[in-house]
Order: sequence, then structure tokens, then C-alpha cells
Amino acid sequence: MVNSPPVHTFSVYCRARYGRTIGKIPLETGHPCPNRDRGGCLYCRPLSFTPQSLRPGDSLDEQIRRGKKYLLSGRFTGYFGYFQQETPTSLATSRLLPLLTSVIADPECVGLIIAARPDCIADDLPAALADLVQSSGKECLIELGLQSIHARSLQQLNRNHGVHDFFSAVRRIKTQDSLRIGVHLILGIPGETEADMLASVETVCALGVHALKLHHLQVLKDTPLHSLHTKGLVPTFSLDGYLQLLLRLLPRIPWEVVLHRLWSSAHPHLLVAPRWHLHATELSQRLQASMAEQHIRQGQDVDSVESTR
Ligand code: SF4
Repeated sequence: MVNSPPVHTFSVYCRARYGRTIGKIPLETGHPCPNRDRGGCLYCRPLSFTPQSLRPGDSLDEQIRRGKKYLLSGRFTGYFGYFQQETPTSLATSRLLPLLTSVIADPECVGLIIAARPDCIADDLPAALADLVQSSGKECLIELGLQSIHARSLQQLNRNHGVHDFFSAVRRIKTQDSLRIGVHLILGIPGETEADMLASVETVCALGVHALKLHHLQVLKDTPLHSLHTKGLVPTFSLDGYLQLLLRLLPRIPWEVVLHRLWSSAHPHLLVAPRWHLHATELSQRLQASMAEQHIRQGQDVDSVESTR
């Protein structure tokens, strides 16, 4: 326990589960997110989460080939097919499933991660995914984009779904034991206090989700959020302020919850604020150094002694 890592990151999870390094290959179905017709989320700029390996119109085979070449590049011995772009689950299950089946069939693919709006989980999707998990012997994480449990924030971000959609999605996915659930939350939504952010984190953790993806709010060029930011309406975290927040949140997140992300990392040419001029690796080193210095570990305030590592 003394030398065990202080945060249950995705790489820690993969090393424990697979005994080797596993990467993610972002993939896209080419189907647009349904929220675009309603103006899109205030902060969303697809280019910010589109890796260079993805080129419009490429087949899934080609996306995987390029992903292996440019993203795995000898550092990883397996990968998750990461359907991160847009909202893949807005496709009918009958159209989505063949795509997922073709990806998971690759021997180097250990499983799927599928991003989804909470209002885009079709009733027949969980059972179909559970069948796929069972027949392939691989894993599947559904990553629900919630961002906040607070109605005012969801409205402000133009998410066009409510927290009730999230609870309903979790309930329906949980009917299938073999599926894993992840949740994406944004920290620093204008108007939210630290107590509001903690409430979002604790509410989703209390549902027994398996993974979290936490981001600080970033303002990207030419988004509606950018316009508000130029009017001085979008305060953003300082580097130190954000690290301090993480040091207070991490002890409240159970160790079982795998942290796929702790910050955003948009490309500098798209990023307006906050500009910390720091590489993600340095960010991680600073956080871990502060955790070691202050004897902080993920889950220490909420886990029983037996449940920690
Ligand atoms: S739901 Fe996701 S992909 Fe769709 S507009 Fe919002 S952030 Fe962008």
C-alpha cells in the first residue's frame, strides 16, 4: 500500500487488469450528435477532441489502422476502441451494433468505450451490448456525458437533457451486470460553487459507477462560450486553484472508480482559457507530488480500510 499509486487512473486499472499497457483509439461513426440541431453545447468544438489520426470519411478499418500507427506506436500492446466523437449511441442499435462488433473482433482490441448523451441510450442497447460482451469475452464501458447534476448548469450549457435522463440511463444500463458505466463531469461551470461540484461527484459515485472523466472547463475558440468569455462572464481556474480542488475532491472519490481523466487538454491553437502552459505529464507530476506531500489518496475519506487496495 505504501508504494501503490495515489490515484486509480486508467493506466493503473489496465496494468492491474491486463498486466500490460493498453491505449485508446478514438473512432467515429460519421453520425452527427443530435444536439447540434439544437445549437450544440456551449463549450463544444469537435476539433478539440478529434485526434489527427481521424480523417473525415475514413472507414473504421482505416481509422483503426491509423490509430495503431500514430497513437499506439509501440507504446501499447492492446487498445480500447473509443467511440468518443459526437454521440455514437444516437444511431439505432441495429446500425450501431455491426460497427461495434467489427471493432471488438480485432484480437488487439480488449474492449469498447462508448461515449453517450444520457438521453441517447435506446431501450434495446444495454442488452445488445451485454450480448456482445458475453460473446467476445471483452469489456464495454458506456461513458455518459452528464457534466453536472444541477439543472441550472445543464440549461446554461445548452445540454438539452436533464439529470433525470442520466438516472434513467444508469438504471437501464445497470440491468446488465457485464456493462461498465463511466460519467463525464465538468468542473468550473460558471455559477457553480465547490459544494455544487462535490455534489455532482458524490451523487454519481453513490450510484456505483465504475469510471469518471473529470475536466476543468476550457474556453475554446469560436464557441458560444468564447463569446461569453470575451464579455467577462466565464471565470476559469488558475492552475493552482484547480490542483487544490482536485486535492479536496480525490479523497471523496472511492478507489474503485477509475479516473480516465482529471483535466482537459485542448490543443493550444484552439484554447482561449485557461492557458497554463503546462504539459499534461507535468500536471500529473505536480498533482502526485502534492498528494504525496500531504498524504492524500483517492478514496481515503470514503473507503473502508478493507476496500482500499
Ligand atoms: S453532446 Fe457532446 S458532441 Fe454533442 S454538442 Fe454536446 S459536447 Fe458536443
